[in-house]
Amino acid sequence: MIGLRHDVDNIYGLRDGLPKLIRIEEKFGIRSTIFVRTNIMPEKSDKEYIKQLEDKGWEIGLHLTNTINTSEFPSPKDELRFLRNIGLNIQGVTPCGQTIGWKGEVTWKTMDSLGLQYMEGYGIPDFETKTFVMPTHLTLDHGYVKKFGENKGYQLFTQDLDVILQQRGHATVLSHPEWFVRSLGYNSKHRTVIRLTRVIFTALSKRLMSNVYNQFLTDYNEKTKFMRYIDLMKYLMRDI
Ligand SMILES: [Zn+2]
Repeated sequence: MIGLRHDVDNIYGLRDGLPKLIRIEEKFGIRSTIFVRTNIMPEKSDKEYIKQLEDKGWEIGLHLTNTINTSEFPSPKDELRFLRNIGLNIQGVTPCGQTIGWKGEVTWKTMDSLGLQYMEGYGIPDFETKTFVMPTHLTLDHGYVKKFGENKGYQLFTQDLDVILQQRGHATVLSHPEWFVRSLGYNSKHRTVIRLTRVIFTALSKRLMSNVYNQFLTDYNEKTKFMRYIDLMKYLMRDI
């Protein structure tokens, strides 16, 4: 069983990347969970698009910006309210690495305070939570394709994924819609190198996610079941 997660971090990812990703999943009849930041839907049409996806069976979750509940940003509860006001049925939360980022225990506590059904961070918190903790994901784009390219990256990804599936019987996989239209670039310590290679590689259609993701769904659709986070959570809860 594989829970599919996508984090939408920017407007570009929402308007250009997400429709491409959705088309691929639609072809396979697969539904995933799309975690959205609240600042990526400035227009009414953006909100309507996300709501439509929910109506078609995709799950929408909160991709939390204010991961430490600081007063410098709208509160986590406000972020949740914003999505609920669109009419979305938000059941899960993940932390966004941008803006503030992952801050361990503080972030676990912030997410736990939202009273949602599940949350996912990195590893498991060392205190008892009210919220179900999802198993930590493999990041197909940044963890593999950006580091090793489409072929080698995908090969290493499937090796790691197979080990997890053998050990636990289930896994979670993350990718970001923006990399379906823009190249991940060459992995480097230098930001300029990444930026420059992103422009060049995008023109050359290298280190893009569309083909890799299509391959992933093709290869695993037979051997396992893809699902939304909420469905994987319900399945895992039965074991407890
Ligand atoms: Zn993010």
